[in-house]
Amino acid sequence: MDKYRILKQYFGFDRFREGQEKLIDGILGGKDVFGVMPTGSGKSLCFQIPALIMDGITLVVSPLISLMKDQVASLNQAGIHAAYLNSSLTPGQYYKALEYAKAGRYPIIYVAPERLESESFLDFALNSKIAMVAVDEAHCVSQWGQDFRPSYLKIVEFIRRLPKRPVVSVFTATATKEVREDIIDILMLQDPVMVTTGYDRPNLYLSVQAPGDKYAALKIYVETHPEQGGIVYCLTRKLVEEVSEKLRNDGFSVTRYHAGLSDAERRRNQDDFIYDRRLIMVATNAFGMGIDKSNVRYIIHYNMPGSIEAYYQEIGRCARDQEPGECILYYSGQDVVTNQFFIDHNTENRELDAVTRQIVMERDRERLRKMTFYCFTRECLRDYILRYFGEYHSNYCGNCVNYLTQFESIDVTEIAKALVGCVSSSRQRYGVNVILDTVHGANTAKIRQYRMEGNPHYGVLAKVPVYKLRQVMNELMLRDFLSVTSDEYAIIKLTENSGKILDGAEPYVMKMAKEPELQEKEKNDKKSRKNKTMGVELSSTEKALFEKLRLFRLEIAREEQVPPYIVFSDKTLIHMCRTKPETKAEMLSVPGIGTFKFQKYGDKFLKCIKEYETESN
Ligand code: ADP
Ligand code: MG
Repeated sequence: MDKYRILKQYFGFDRFREGQEKLIDGILGGKDVFGVMPTGSGKSLCFQIPALIMDGITLVVSPLISLMKDQVASLNQAGIHAAYLNSSLTPGQYYKALEYAKAGRYPIIYVAPERLESESFLDFALNSKIAMVAVDEAHCVSQWGQDFRPSYLKIVEFIRRLPKRPVVSVFTATATKEVREDIIDILMLQDPVMVTTGYDRPNLYLSVQAPGDKYAALKIYVETHPEQGGIVYCLTRKLVEEVSEKLRNDGFSVTRYHAGLSDAERRRNQDDFIYDRRLIMVATNAFGMGIDKSNVRYIIHYNMPGSIEAYYQEIGRCARDQEPGECILYYSGQDVVTNQFFIDHNTENRELDAVTRQIVMERDRERLRKMTFYCFTRECLRDYILRYFGEYHSNYCGNCVNYLTQFESIDVTEIAKALVGCVSSSRQRYGVNVILDTVHGANTAKIRQYRMEGNPHYGVLAKVPVYKLRQVMNELMLRDFLSVTSDEYAIIKLTENSGKILDGAEPYVMKMAKEPELQEKEKNDKKSRKNKTMGVELSSTEKALFEKLRLFRLEIAREEQVPPYIVFSDKTLIHMCRTKPETKAEMLSVPGIGTFKFQKYGDKFLKCIKEYETESN
C-alpha cells in the first residue's frame, strides 16, 4: 500500500501536513531523518506510515510508559498491530509480547530505552529484521535539552550491535540549535534529511498576568470556562495541594498530580483527567510528558517556570487538536526566588564536577532571566519565544496579550530610590516583603520585631499600592540594580549599580501595563471567544448534537477502556456536527475517520446523528 492510501485508510486523513511527506520519503529512500516540529504537528505519522511500508520491524524508542500506551492504543484503534515493551508489563505479558514480536506480528514496537540492553530483548532484536529505529522525544539524549535521560545514550550502542544498520529517524518538538547538533552527534545520524517546520503554535493565545490574588484570578477563569478541561501548573507540591483543595472546596471538577503521591494515585488521577472524568488537573511539572490528550483547552501557570524551554514544553500540551487554546502565566516576584532556589539546590547536578556544575548553574540562571523577561516584555509574546528558539517572525502575532494591551511609561525614580535606599539603610539584612512593608508603612509583627518603624524610609510610599512597589522591585532586580541571595532567606542585596539609583542622577522610567484598560481588553477579547466550542462557531442545534456525540463517545470509550480522544478527536466530532453525514461515503470524508474506524464506529455514529435529526425536527 502506498503512503497516501495508508494515510486515508488507517488514519482517515486526506492530506499530509507540512514536513510529513519529506520525512516519510526520506525514510523510504533509506536515509536517516531528523524532524523538529511543534507539538501536535503530527510527528508520529512520520515514522508510523513508513513502518507499515518497509520490510522489517520498526522500533520506536520513547521515554515514557504513558506515551507508549497511548500511541499503541491509537494504532490498535486504527487497526494496526503494535505493541510496547516496558516495565509496566508483567514478565508473563512481556514474554508473550516478545514471542509475538519474533513471529513477526508487529510492524511497530515501542520500547523503553532501558530495555535495549536486556538479554531477552537483544536476543529478539539481533535475530529479527529491524528496518528502522525511530527515536521520539529525541531531546532526551542531550544534556542541554529539557529532559535529559541517561538511558537514551544506550540507543547508539544498541544500533551498533545490530547486524545491519537500520534507518534512524529522530523527532522532537523543542530543540535549540545546540541541542539539535548534540542529538546528531550523539545518535551518529548519517547525513540526515532535516525538517524544521518551526516552533510556532498559532492556535495558542498567550498571556501574562500579575494578579494580586492568584487564586481569585484562577477561580474566575475556570468559572468562565465551565465545560473545558485544562491544566494548572504549580512550582511546588505544596501549592498543588493547596490550589487543588481550594478548587475542590469551591465545587470544581478537579484532580492533582505530583511526585509525592503514590504511583497508584498518580495513575488514577492522570486517568481521571485523560478520560474526561475530571476537567481540571492541578500539577507540578512532573505531569504532562507523554500526555497526548488532544483537547486540553487551557494551560494556566500558577507560577512562572524556570525557563522558556520548560514553559514552551508545558504549554505544548495545550490544544494539540490545533483548535484554539489559551496559555496564561500568573507571574509574581516570589516565583523568581523559588526558581533561583531550585537552581541552587538542584540535586541532579551533584554528580557533576565542580566546573561543569558551575557552568550548568550559570546556564540555568541565564534561562531563568530570559523567562523572567518574558513576563515583563512589552513585545509580542510569541515573537519573544520564537526568537528565543532562533526563529524570526513578524513583530505582532495578533494572538497574545501584548498585541492587545496598551503600555505606558511611568517615571518611578522616587519609588526606586526609596526601595534601594531602604535596602541600604537596613543594612541589606531583609527579604522583599520586609522592604516593601517598610516603605509602605505597614504595621506588622515582623516590622515591629525588626524595629523598621524607625527606618528613615518607613512609610515614605504609603500611597503607592503594594503590587506596584513589587513591580518596581522586580524590575530593579531584573536590571541588576538589586540582587537577591540564593539561600532560603532570599535577602535583598545592593549591587555595584545600586549607586546609580541612589544618587538619582537620571530619571528611572519603566513601562507598565495600563491596568484597567488591560482588563477591559481581555474582557472584550473573551466576549468574542464566548459561544464558541473550541473556537468554532456552532449553532445551538449543532452544539446540542455535539454534546450528544460527546456523551456517546464517552460511553464507547468506557466500554473499550480507552481515552475518548482515541475513539475520535473533538475535531472529528465537530466536523460531524457541521456536515451531519448520512452515508458511509460522507462519513469517510470526515477527517480522522479511516476505513477501520468506520467499520468500528461508523454506523453507530451515523445512527446517532440520524436519531438527533429526527428528534429535533
Ligand atoms: P506530535 O507527536 O507532533 O506532537 P502527534 O503525532 O501526536 O503530534 O499528532 C497530533 C495530532 O495530529 C493527532 O491527533 C494526529 O492524528 C493529527 N494528525 C497527524 N497528521 C495529520 C494529518 N496529515 N492530517 C490531519 N491530522 C493529522
Ligand atoms: Mg509525539
